[in-house]
Amino acid sequence: MQFYCESLTEYKRLKTKEVKIGDLLLGNPDGYRGHPIRVQTMTTTDTMDTLATVEQSIRCIEAGAELVRITAPSKNDAGNLLYIKSELRKRGYYTPLVADIHFTPNAAEIAARIVEKVRVNPGNYVDKKKFELIEYSDADYAEEIDRIRERFTPLIKICKEYGTAMRIGTNHGSLSDRIMSRYGDTAMGMVESAMEFLRIARNESYHNIVLSMKSSNPQVMVQAYRLLVKTMFDEFAECYPLHLGVTEAGDGEDGRIKSAVGIGTLLEDGLGDTIRVSLTEDPELEIPVCKDLVKRYDSQQSTVDSSRPIPAIDKLSYDPFRYQRRETFEVDNIGAKHVPVVIADLSKIEKISATQLESVGYTYDEATDKWNISDAAADYIFTGNQILDFALPGTLKVIVYPETWQKAAKASPVGGGLVGAKYFPIYQDSGYVESAIKSDQTNFVMIDCFNDGADSFTYLDQLANDLTVVLCLSSTNNNAMQSVRRMYVELINRGIKNPVINITDSPDNNREQTADEHLIHFATENGGLLLEGFGDGICLGMTSKSYSLLASSYKQLNATGRNYSNNLTIEQFINSTSFGILQATRTRISKTEYISCPSCGRTLFDLQETTAKIRSRTNHLKGVKIAIMGCIVNGPGEMADADFGYVGSGTGKITLYRGKEIVKRNVNSEVAVDELINLLKESEAWLEPG
Ligand code: SF4
Repeated sequence: MQFYCESLTEYKRLKTKEVKIGDLLLGNPDGYRGHPIRVQTMTTTDTMDTLATVEQSIRCIEAGAELVRITAPSKNDAGNLLYIKSELRKRGYYTPLVADIHFTPNAAEIAARIVEKVRVNPGNYVDKKKFELIEYSDADYAEEIDRIRERFTPLIKICKEYGTAMRIGTNHGSLSDRIMSRYGDTAMGMVESAMEFLRIARNESYHNIVLSMKSSNPQVMVQAYRLLVKTMFDEFAECYPLHLGVTEAGDGEDGRIKSAVGIGTLLEDGLGDTIRVSLTEDPELEIPVCKDLVKRYDSQQSTVDSSRPIPAIDKLSYDPFRYQRRETFEVDNIGAKHVPVVIADLSKIEKISATQLESVGYTYDEATDKWNISDAAADYIFTGNQILDFALPGTLKVIVYPETWQKAAKASPVGGGLVGAKYFPIYQDSGYVESAIKSDQTNFVMIDCFNDGADSFTYLDQLANDLTVVLCLSSTNNNAMQSVRRMYVELINRGIKNPVINITDSPDNNREQTADEHLIHFATENGGLLLEGFGDGICLGMTSKSYSLLASSYKQLNATGRNYSNNLTIEQFINSTSFGILQATRTRISKTEYISCPSCGRTLFDLQETTAKIRSRTNHLKGVKIAIMGCIVNGPGEMADADFGYVGSGTGKITLYRGKEIVKRNVNSEVAVDELINLLKESEAWLEPG
């Protein structure tokens, strides 16, 4: 084990214990490939509605779910799992079922006799949350653990007797008052919350356990899983399988990006034995996203690139358990304290016109002769060898190849602006070092990390600390993210402080890929770097082949009516993915953030419809975090760090929150969205659209 995973320089899955869930085996006991990474989802129907739950479960299974979770909020619901299970078996479906338990040990003890797995939340299995901060002496703390042991042990005994598996599933938003008092709202608190339960289970020689550390903030979630692995290994010299997920990720493009950033980063580390992508959409729609995330590790991409090995990391020069942005100097608006920039690759457009800049956030208004600039407007465009024949918006700059840059420098002004002043050259590392002509302001310099093995270090010292150089790191290595990360380690070790752009090309894989596959690739590769604090900008691109293949799959996607990518050009899709990744990693906020639960049998209103309604009224409120939660039982706890909360509190009733404070209780649902807007206005978080 290296720090918290098997390897930081190649994909290697963490060795974990084998867990049996009905007939399904999970984990990586041989420490090589192990059992496949299992994909799962959760029903959203009322558990007491047997037929609806059975039918939804079947849709999930048909989509490929290998486990189906069903909420069991009460003893009655837990008991009804028996009818659901037998109806599924009658119809020929043997997929293991998981009962989801919060607050009700009695329900857990019933469910554990019926279904193949129970999920307990250590934050609320025994404790009732009162949001109190209490000073615990060591003796008080030990007494609390005894209380947990007493209440939790009966469930363990039932699980042992019935061969039932268990997930100890910590959620960042629902840590107990005890944990919050001692550890605060931290990754370590999440880990300790699960470890308290795990130690009790091990003492009972019960090992059929999976663990999870979910949060709606991918940064927190990634740190917590890593810390959990390290803690388990340090304490037990072995690890239990991990169930990965980002909670309340939302829907559409944002939900997919957020999930891929969190889950993908950990999968790249070789962590994760089963995954669930929580979307505020029908549960069967989560499965293709899970499959796209997991299949990356069955392919060539995940194998060691023996011809181009990445040098091992002997000394880890950053903290993988704590976010800290790498220290850089500033080159123009890149690096230092600037938010990461977005570079849009427009080089595949044959003749770039002013109208095409709309796809990257700039709209020209002929009447006023002005550019409108959106919050998600690219900072730079890469045009290859094109010099544009129209005046550019004031904030936009152009990156071109060196010969074109020299021509641009001599070109006559367009629309009153000096062309050359807005153009900057991009070189290969050797090309830059050997070139006699360079920009005295900004030079972009490409390094293909470990394409030639350790030769990638050849030019580093010559580029180092040249105050005009922005490094552009990319990799064609099978372990692309790991090789770029390895280069960052080298930069830190050598004291090189040039800002860096992460360049990610989506491979064509010799087949047509959907927009979702590209999106997951981009989010996974960049999430892994940005969450470490690595990256002063991003540039997402595609090979010519994948670009033309996507154009055809786009047609299909639009035909399915999937709202988030309808009618987007490929450049728009990439630009919005870029800003989505920066938002999900919380490195650059450009839009409203929605934390919406995926819904389940407890949900008290139509979450998908309400989320869409709230989004349509508030999506211009950059940086405001709005939680939309289906029930008052778990919703408030799981809203994490939302600024405002819209929470179902009874049939047709909504309770509104400002942070954790209730401000409007049991509002009629017909007027609740208007009341939310009023609350935003009262709280000075509202801006009129436009
Ligand atoms: S917050 Fe949403 S997903 Fe969580 S228990 Fe409540 S309704 Fe279900």
